[in-house]
Parts: sequence; C-alpha cells; structure tokens
Amino acid sequence: MTTQELLEFDRRHIWHPYTSTIDPLPVFPVTKAEGVRLYLADGQVLIDGMSSWWAAVHGYNHPVLNAAVEKQLHNMSHVMFGGITHDPAVELVSLLLPLLPPSMDKVFLADSGSIAVEVAMKMAIQYWQAQGKGKKHKFATIRSGYHGDTWHAMSVCDPITGMHGIFSGSLPVQYFLPQPPIRFSDEWDESVMKPLADLLQKHADEIAALILEPVVQGAGGMYFYSPIYLQYARKLCDQYGVLLIFDEIATGFGRTGKLFAWEWANVEPDIMCIGKALTGGYMTLSATITTEPIATRICSGEAGCFMHGPTFMGNPLACAVAVASVSLLMRSNWQERVHQIESQLREQLAPASAFSSVKEVRVLGAIGVIEMKEPVDMALMQRRFVEEGIWVRPFGRLVYLMPPFIIQQDELSQLTTGVLRVIE
Ligand SMILES: *Cc1c(COP(=O)(O)O)cnc(C)c1O
Repeated sequence: MTTQELLEFDRRHIWHPYTSTIDPLPVFPVTKAEGVRLYLADGQVLIDGMSSWWAAVHGYNHPVLNAAVEKQLHNMSHVMFGGITHDPAVELVSLLLPLLPPSMDKVFLADSGSIAVEVAMKMAIQYWQAQGKGKKHKFATIRSGYHGDTWHAMSVCDPITGMHGIFSGSLPVQYFLPQPPIRFSDEWDESVMKPLADLLQKHADEIAALILEPVVQGAGGMYFYSPIYLQYARKLCDQYGVLLIFDEIATGFGRTGKLFAWEWANVEPDIMCIGKALTGGYMTLSATITTEPIATRICSGEAGCFMHGPTFMGNPLACAVAVASVSLLMRSNWQERVHQIESQLREQLAPASAFSSVKEVRVLGAIGVIEMKEPVDMALMQRRFVEEGIWVRPFGRLVYLMPPFIIQQDELSQLTTGVLRVIE
C-alpha cells in the first residue's frame, strides 16, 4: 500500500481512540520510532512530547528492552496463568515488591490499566462481602479524576472531564467529592477535608473504598494537589472503615519526581494500581497490589478466592519486558533526569502564562501543563505541532508535555519552543 492508500483504508475501517467514523480527525502514519523520535511516512521526524501516554519513559526501540523481548520470545510468548507459573512473572513481582509501599504483599498481574482498576474495585467489594458487609459496594472519589474506560472504572471518572458523561444514566452512581482545592505546594488548610469527613460519616456503611490518583490527576484534568490531602484521607478512611485505593497507573515509575506518588505523602494505600510505564511502553501490562490481611480476608469469604482471571494474565513477554524496563529505570539516574526536565519545563513554559489565551502554566516532575482559557481545536493544533516537528496531543483546554526521561536538553527546548509558538 502507498501511504495514501493506507490512510484511506484506515479512515474507512479503523477506529482510533475517541474518534468519529463519520468525521475522523486526521492521523499521522508512523513507520519507526527510536529514542525520542517518531518517524513519519513522509520522512518527517518528530520529537515525542507524550511518551505514548506516560508509558515510553526510556524512549523507543531501546536495545535493552528489545533484547528482553527477543530472548523471551524464543522461550514462550504466552502461556496460560491458570495452574502455571514462570520466571518472568516471578522475577517481575520480586523486583516490584521492594519498590512498592512496605505493606504491599500480593500482586495481581492484569492486562491494562482499566482492568487493574476493575480488579482493585472488585477486591474492595469482595473484602467487605467476606465480612458480611455486602452493603458496602459503592465508591467515593474526587472530581476531575480519570481511572479508565471500562464500566466500573468509568463510574469513578469525572462525569464531565472524564469523557464518559454520555453513559451517566447507565453507570453505577458513585460519590463525588470536590477536587482538593489546595495545590501541590500551597499551604495546607484542614477545612478542605470536610466534604470527605461528612460523606464518610453519613455513608461509610455503603462505601467500599475511596479511590484516588495520588497527587497528580492525569487525563481528567492534569492537576497537582497537596500530598497532605492523602494523609488526612488515610486517617478518615481508617476512622470510618473504608479502604483506600491509589491509582498510580499514570504517576508510577518516576513521572512526578518520586518513584511512586504515594511517597510524597508517605501514605500507604490498601490497594494500589500500576500500569502504563511498567513495560516502558512496550506492551500492555498492569498490576493491582494489596496487603496480606486484605488478600486473606478476600479469600476467606464465601467465594474462597479472588474472582478474576483474564486470558492473558501474567503474559510472559510483557512480564519479561517489564523486568527489563524496571531494572533499567532503577539502574539509571532517573531522579536527576526528571529533576532536570522539571527545571527546564518550568523555565521554558513560563512565558506562556503571559499569553492572553492561557489560563495557567504548571509543572511537576516530568509533566508540564499549559491550561488554556478555551478548549483547543485539536485537529488544527495537532497539525501545527507536526509542522513544528514535535508530537504533542492536547485535549480539552490542556496542552501538556511529558517526554521520555532520556530526552536531551536541546530536544526538550525544541518541544517547548514549538508548543509556545503554536499557542501564541
Ligand atoms: C491511563 C490510565 C488508566 C487506564 O489505563 P489503560 O491502560 O488505558 O486502560 C487508569 N488510571 C489512570 C490514572 C490512567 O492514567
């Protein structure tokens, strides 16, 4: 097929994320990706500002990750996990446990972020059911969150910015609290906990868990809030007998400047979800992790086990590349890299706050966000970014950068310069 034919076929038959088949936004054919660069079919080369949605922290086509996949491929790419185990899964879990909150002990390897969230929610419900508290099956969360596209995950996404408002009539109805109004480094004010305290006081007998993206809310609003919120949330959850779930699918593996965002508050959840950067962006894999007492309680209930088991659970190829990616990250100077990216983003995105179309610029770790006053014309902006030689995909009022950690200073400058030029 020529590029033209490929695009024509794609347009006619293939669905892309959140796109119309009647009036699809243009897509750009990528033929190769290496380091921080995406190579388009027409020969253009783009600097990647997205890490393919938080995932490709080491950049693309990495020799170490490639080697891990190749080696595993020659042993087995997949084998069922029911009644079978294998080195890649065991190695991965033994590598992860020391990096996770100390109380975390039992790991469920799931196939995508949304599924990790479904699994976490099912764990919470089974945990209460096992103690005769089947009435506790609702969830509480904060506004502007994003937890995935599957059914129960959708129900805890922000009903408006979470992109699923259209389903609101048929989704389970959960309890939504205001977004924590205190920004990441702003002074703490305990009164912001009142809505959560009131909710739990009134409804703790129906609530299984509070689910949060700790410190950084991703796709629901790219917002950074005070870690102290997590400390108070932990206390309230304990006081009222409600589990605390941290969705670290976006924040995990260094993106915010800590390996995991719970470390900002030193607050351990009861259940934690990881995904996205787990395989360095090579394959889909996620995990839901909980403590020994919670797992034991779940498995002491009527069912006698945790009721979930996807076909591709613990996929060896994905586990092998995850082992390679996590080891590579831990051997690297990621803290320094993320810190340098943070300083450079702060300095180089700052001028945007003076533009009349810009509401706010904010940066944390390797995440730079420009919030516009009005929703952007995504198709137009995307095309303009490509003309600038950069890959940036805005949504709603948000234009943001979260480059691979391996990005060099001059490459990052190209990204920030391009973004500022287009926005201006
Ligand atoms: C992306 C994301 C998910 C969903 O992960 P998928 O792999 O897209 O299913 C869930 N929670 C958070 C915080 C995410 O950023």
